[in-house]
Amino acid sequence: MIEMAIASGKGGVGKSTVSATIAITLARKRKVIAVDADADAPNMHLILGMKESDWEWEEPYSDSMIAKIIQEKCIKCGECLKVCPYRAISLDPYGNYVINPVICEGCLTCSLVCPVKGAIVREQALSGIMRMARTKYGFPLISARLNPGRPNTGKLVTEEKTKAKEMSDQETVIVVDSAAGIGCQVVSSLAGANMAILVAEPTPASFNALKRVHTLAKHFMQPAALVINKWDMNQRLSQEIEAYAKEKNLDFLGKVPYDDSIPKSMALMKPVIEAFPDSPASIALLEVAERVEGILSDWRNWFMKYRPKKPEPYKPVIIKPEGF
Ligand code: SF4
Ligand code: SF4
Repeated sequence: MIEMAIASGKGGVGKSTVSATIAITLARKRKVIAVDADADAPNMHLILGMKESDWEWEEPYSDSMIAKIIQEKCIKCGECLKVCPYRAISLDPYGNYVINPVICEGCLTCSLVCPVKGAIVREQALSGIMRMARTKYGFPLISARLNPGRPNTGKLVTEEKTKAKEMSDQETVIVVDSAAGIGCQVVSSLAGANMAILVAEPTPASFNALKRVHTLAKHFMQPAALVINKWDMNQRLSQEIEAYAKEKNLDFLGKVPYDDSIPKSMALMKPVIEAFPDSPASIALLEVAERVEGILSDWRNWFMKYRPKKPEPYKPVIIKPEGF
C-alpha cells in the first residue's frame, strides 16, 4: 500500500484538480482510494461530478463535548455568563441563560461557578460526518464535513485515513487531497504518508507556502515531488520554483499552463481531463499523472533517491513574557 498526500500550503492553486487527475489515471491500472482531507471545505466530490444521493454511507462524527444549561434547574443567577472565556453564554429574550453550541468549547468553567448541582451538564457535540461513495471512475472516495465551529479537523482527517486503510490491501494506492495551509488537517494528511506531491503556482504567496509545506514533508521524512500549475502566469518565478525543486531534491513532475478549461470543467462538475480532454491543461495534467504512475512502478529506486537524508528539526518559537 502506498499513501500519497497532495498538498500546497496555499489554497486555490489547483491541488484538488491534480489529485482528481492522479486518482482517475492511477485507477485505470491500480486499486485506488481517494480521501478528501479538507473537512472544512470538501470539494473533491464536486470535481468528480458526484451528487448528494451518491453517498453510500454516512457516519456521524463526534469527538467533543459542549455544555448545556438545564432550564428547570437554573436559578438565573448569571454567574456562568460572567466567567465563560468564550462568551458562549447569553441571556435570551425570555430571561433564560443559554449556551451557543457553535461557540462553546466544552471547558466547563461555567459549571465550576454554578451554585446549582446539575444545572449545567456536558453533552456530546455532533462535530460532523464522514461518508463514502463509489465514483464512476471505479474508485471509492472518502470525504468528511465538519460542522461550523467544531474543532479537531486533524482528528477527523486521521479517521478518514484510517477508514481508507481498513478498505485497502497491499496493492492499494491512497490519494489524499489535503486542505490548504499547514494546520492540523495538513499535518494529519501528511503524517504517515509515503510521499508528498506538492502543488504550487508562480506567485510569491504560493512559493512561500510551498516552502512551508515542504518543511513539513521533510519533518515527516517524506520524499516529495512538485507540480507547477498556471506556470505561464509568471515564467520567471516558475523558473525560480523549478530551481528550488532542484536544489532541495524535489522530483519535478511537470508544469500545467493556465487554461480556462479548468474553471469551465468545474462549473460543469466534471474533471477537466474528461470535459476538455484535448485542452493544454488536460494534456499536461495527464503527463503529470503518468509520471506518478512511473514513480509507483519504480517505487524503491524513487524513494531512495528523493527521501530526505535527515528529518527537518522542529524549531519552536519561544516568546518570553516581559520582565523575564
Ligand atoms: S463549557 Fe466553557 S465555553 Fe462552554 S459555555 Fe461553559 S464556560 Fe463557556
Ligand atoms: S450559573 Fe447555573 S444557576 Fe446560575 S445562571 Fe448559570 S446555569 Fe443558571
